[in-house]
Amino acid sequence: KLRGGRAKTMQFGPDSLTRIYAVTSGKGGVGKSTLTANLGVALAARGLRVGIVDADVFGFSIPGILGIAGAKPTQVNEMILPPLAHDVKVISIGMFVPSTSSGQAADRVVSWRGPMLHRTIQQFLTDVYFGDLDILLLDLPPGTGDIAISIGQLLPQAEIIVVTTPQPAAAEVAERSALVARQTGQKVIGVVENMAGLPQADGSILDIFGSGGGADAAARLSTPEEPVTVLASIPLSIALREGGDTGRPIVLTHPDEPAARAITELAAQL
Ligand code: ADP
Repeated sequence: KLRGGRAKTMQFGPDSLTRIYAVTSGKGGVGKSTLTANLGVALAARGLRVGIVDADVFGFSIPGILGIAGAKPTQVNEMILPPLAHDVKVISIGMFVPSTSSGQAADRVVSWRGPMLHRTIQQFLTDVYFGDLDILLLDLPPGTGDIAISIGQLLPQAEIIVVTTPQPAAAEVAERSALVARQTGQKVIGVVENMAGLPQADGSILDIFGSGGGADAAARLSTPEEPVTVLASIPLSIALREGGDTGRPIVLTHPDEPAARAITELAAQL
């Protein structure tokens, strides 16, 4: 809790009861943010108190996917209150970047150096008042950059979920990002395979991106002490993509879609 506005402490310190999952991937465009946003909404729909920290400096797409693009946090005295989207408290690095007339805010964050990114993430975790949360999801930038290392230092208890597509090459880069997290002491709990086969009208599955990448990444990341499993396989879904474009998460609007069911089932496992 914030005390008197000055002696601010980390809300998610070692004594915190909040479970923290950091969602990462080896490269961009594999659906990491789409998954994180929908997973957060699915967890909130189960009655859990959920927050999302969008730390993806290259994308910060969570507010858009959740239909609150342009929303700003509310400042009350020294406290920063995160906007709410579908019962999820959302804070995004994009909310703290002054937008330019050309709208190139993302480029400016990407050019930030490591220490500035570290301070911003630290500020998210101290000045932003989430209240008591059951689950905090972090949307990390793809790859093995400064943010992943900062999270490892600030939130060593965070558990890592790796997102990959079924392509063998994607599994390889996914493995690298997870290994960085493990080096900073975080536990890799599982792999989510996204953009898995596209269900066809005749009931068959079209494997547009091949198959096996999720299982492959999980096998590579498993150690005898720390087995890593495929937590979910989410099919390609036009509804999931459209829901992200329009800010209406399919776990709420199309709960019977196979992609929505896979995400809801993942939420039930966490
Ligand atoms: P990342 O966070 O990994 O960069 P995004 O979540 O931004 O990826 O997703 C990249 C694009 O792919 C978005 O347009 C998103 O709507 C789309 N997408 C993600 N998952 C799926 C899926 N299972 N089926 C169809 N489109 C998807």
